[in-house]
Amino acid sequence: MRAVTSSNGSVNVIDADEPQGDGEIITITSSGICGSDLHLIKLGLSGIILGHEFGGFTSSGQLVAVRPTGECGTCQQCSRGFPHTCRDAAGSLHGTSINGGLAERVLVDPSRLVLVPSGTDAASVALVEPLAVVIHGINRTAIQQGMKVLVIGAGSIGLLTAAVLVTRGIDVDIVCRHAHQKMAAEALGAKAIDTPGTDYDISFDAVCTQQSFDACVNATRPRGSIIEFGMIWGPLALNNSIMLKEISIVPSIFYSHDHSHNDFEEAVQILHNHPHITNAIVTHRFELSEAAHAFDVADNKKFGAIKVHLFSSL
Ligand SMILES: [Zn+2]
Ligand SMILES: [Zn+2]
Repeated sequence: MRAVTSSNGSVNVIDADEPQGDGEIITITSSGICGSDLHLIKLGLSGIILGHEFGGFTSSGQLVAVRPTGECGTCQQCSRGFPHTCRDAAGSLHGTSINGGLAERVLVDPSRLVLVPSGTDAASVALVEPLAVVIHGINRTAIQQGMKVLVIGAGSIGLLTAAVLVTRGIDVDIVCRHAHQKMAAEALGAKAIDTPGTDYDISFDAVCTQQSFDACVNATRPRGSIIEFGMIWGPLALNNSIMLKEISIVPSIFYSHDHSHNDFEEAVQILHNHPHITNAIVTHRFELSEAAHAFDVADNKKFGAIKVHLFSSL
């Protein structure tokens, strides 16, 4: 089967062995390219089929999204209901630790499957994972209607954050640098701005660099909160503004699924109810054999991509 791997910083489509073993073989419909993929490829990731944002059909024809994280089920974090902070969450992550979804088929542990209701656009399944990331971060805040909320960064995570907040009836300002980001923000019902004010109750940092972090500190009111999404790839310096304003910093990683709530299920429901979100976010669609070009498009702002999806067939 065809599959996408990387070596020495470049992306290749290879002829890989068919997956086999215990579990469910998923025939993949679509798979997304994430900023963390681009980063890890530059750091030398190799020897694995890429892709942690994907879904497809089970052998019985059920459309599913796949939670790419693992869990041991026995450690303290798993027992406490926080399997996303289990060592196995990242330790058996599809696309970085075990083979991922940028392929025609993949072997998945059945506990990682999330059913997608009929009537949902099959192209939406690869958007469930980044949307679950966003839902987890939002659910880590005590956000309420009437609050002033800011998102810094109008890539896919920032725009999905704005989209979810709008579905919850919350007005949201999002800092956009590029025209295509402003268009997407407006299509999602958020307010695209160039320069934020200084009195936001909650700021979402969807970039996680020193510049975006400092901008959030500046924009957040005293005793407000900043949510850090995704990965902080380099050290961040703190300064006395955080102390003087008593700002709470809330890191958010992956998605939770305990007995009371499953971020993946909430993401599936949102995409089912609001198909315009997929249309606004997935700006580029390629066939699997075009993977090298698709990664260039995802990596280079000149192409105006927000989220790039690859399909086994278009
Ligand atoms: Zn991702
Ligand atoms: Zn565990």
